[in-house]
Amino acid sequence: MLELEHISKIYHMGDNVLYALNNVCVRVEPGDFVAIMGPSGSGKSTLMNILGLLDNPSSGLYRIDGQDVSKLNENYLAILRRNKLGFIFQQFNLLPRLTALENVALPHFYSAQGEDSSIGRNLLARVGLANRMDHKPNELSGGQQQRVAIARALINAPSVIFADEPTGNLDSKSAAEIMALLEDLNNQGITIVMVTHEESIGARAKRRIRMRDGKVVADDRLKPLNSGVGIPPRESLSSRGIFAMLFGFLKQAVLTLSSNRIRTGLSTLGILIGVAAVIVMMAIGSGARRQIQEQLASMGSNLLILRPGATRLAGVVQESSATRLTLDDASSLQEKISSIYAVSPTVSGRAQITFGNKNWNTQITGTTPTYTSMRAAKPARGRFFSQTENQSRAMLAVIGLTVARELFGEANPLGENIKINKLNFQVIGVLPEKGAQGPRDQDDIIIVPVQTAMRRLFGKDYVDSIEIQIRSGADLNQASDEILQYMSGRRRIPLAQAQEPFRIFNMAELQSAISSTSQTMSTLLAGIAAISLLVGGIGIMNIMLVSVTERTREIGLRKAVGARPFDILVQFIIESIVLTLVGGLMGILVGWLLTLLVARTAGWTTVIDPLAIAMAFFFSVSIGMIFGIYPARRASRLNPIEALRHE
Ligand code: ADP
Repeated sequence: MLELEHISKIYHMGDNVLYALNNVCVRVEPGDFVAIMGPSGSGKSTLMNILGLLDNPSSGLYRIDGQDVSKLNENYLAILRRNKLGFIFQQFNLLPRLTALENVALPHFYSAQGEDSSIGRNLLARVGLANRMDHKPNELSGGQQQRVAIARALINAPSVIFADEPTGNLDSKSAAEIMALLEDLNNQGITIVMVTHEESIGARAKRRIRMRDGKVVADDRLKPLNSGVGIPPRESLSSRGIFAMLFGFLKQAVLTLSSNRIRTGLSTLGILIGVAAVIVMMAIGSGARRQIQEQLASMGSNLLILRPGATRLAGVVQESSATRLTLDDASSLQEKISSIYAVSPTVSGRAQITFGNKNWNTQITGTTPTYTSMRAAKPARGRFFSQTENQSRAMLAVIGLTVARELFGEANPLGENIKINKLNFQVIGVLPEKGAQGPRDQDDIIIVPVQTAMRRLFGKDYVDSIEIQIRSGADLNQASDEILQYMSGRRRIPLAQAQEPFRIFNMAELQSAISSTSQTMSTLLAGIAAISLLVGGIGIMNIMLVSVTERTREIGLRKAVGARPFDILVQFIIESIVLTLVGGLMGILVGWLLTLLVARTAGWTTVIDPLAIAMAFFFSVSIGMIFGIYPARRASRLNPIEALRHE
């Protein structure tokens, strides 16, 4: 039983107050067939929408089976609509993407019955559409569409059907058929409330209510209410389980998105580019970092370089012979300071090299055999010189790859004689490849015994620097303090003059500085990529907002057939997640291919981190969630009747 007591519905139009309904009291008995009639604007639809729980009254009391509906929340109202009420609209309101059968089954989507299509088939057969099950609405006539809508209204076996001008858009033959159907349903015990402005249609009801200016002006019984008939009370339909619902939404999302290919494609493109950019940038960033680390490792670890500094003599800061380093310094350091593992006195300078008619200018480094272990420079081919050969000032050279290529091309350099500053040297080894570090090509170098370099090539009795390898585990800073102290003591430099007589370069510090720079670079790259991901997400939000606006009527209809706000929310969020997920997966693929391409064409080291892929995946899904929430909330909060009226 439906009871309206003193119901008013007010609209404020500027300063005017418009009474769509003005103090209406109506009671509808079970099994009745009520026609609401009256001129346009008299409040017929407003009355019916309030009765059908699609609209709220401004004041008054409405009870369904004794229950005050103003006390019920949105979810419960949705469940009431789903369990007890069915709707038939003048514009049919079928969803264009779904077949007749799927449209009929739509209310089931929200109840626990799931996808059992036999009820829908039976109903379609009952309204005479057994051979039109799989037709889309645009393949059906108006009368057929309205019959689909009636079958949809019947699917949850409602006790009341609301019909708003059900024959308004139909020719007279179809109208007669629809009326016959409604009468038939009423005879089976279903209560019918119908709005119409056609006298001939209204005359077929059992009771006729006439309205004018929001008031009931006449209420006539046309036929007796046979109270004996009534549908048996039925267990109410519970809502669908969460997993079945998610799966159903997923199917729907795929259907909706694939019916709008261009838009779907464009919006996933945004995410695709974002994700691919993140993957490529991170691959390049970590590749660069790995390369730098490898180069740093090849420079040797635990390395200090001792160089002469400047002393202040007679108030003038200058380099002096007092601070020059000698071979003796190197050996006594090694002897006296326990944390030193190895030393390698080094001289360097540039020299002109010739071999046959080839000329080359390169860096010459004179050093000792310990260089091989300290600088990770064990010859790739041939051998290094020995300590004895160093002491005997042997004319031997170990050459870098660049020098080998320039002088010998593809030929084997081992055993050949080259001239360094016009002196004959024999090539005994080729250094391993080190690559470029900054602008300097580390392979453009020739290593000769330090004694040979000092006495024979550069004509000096001191060395330029002493490279010192500290025992692993020892403190580099402490060791360098010790070395400086020892050297000052050895030279007897008075403290007053001891402003930087020697300097120590700490390779570890240099290494960590370079590492942190490269870290900053790759963070920066990832940041730029993340911004493009963000832009993609905003694109998704934009598309979802458009989609909500466009499908406002669909949302209204879904609510009318029993969707709770939560159902609508989840539907739109899932759609948005599917969008970003598809974009994300394609982005991962494209990013991976691009990375391979970059590695091959530009020859850069790239590292695809599984973590980067997982992150890209995770981000694209969360972007779908986050940017889908706003449009989805907007959709879920729409008032059913306003949504249904949306043009
Ligand atoms: P009927 O169905 O009899 O044609 P309605 O119930 O649709 O009449 O409308 C009753 C009155 O309420 C009309 O004057 C109409 O203009 C007004 N009205 C209905 N809906 C709204 C609305 N959303 N905003 C403002 N006025 C409305």
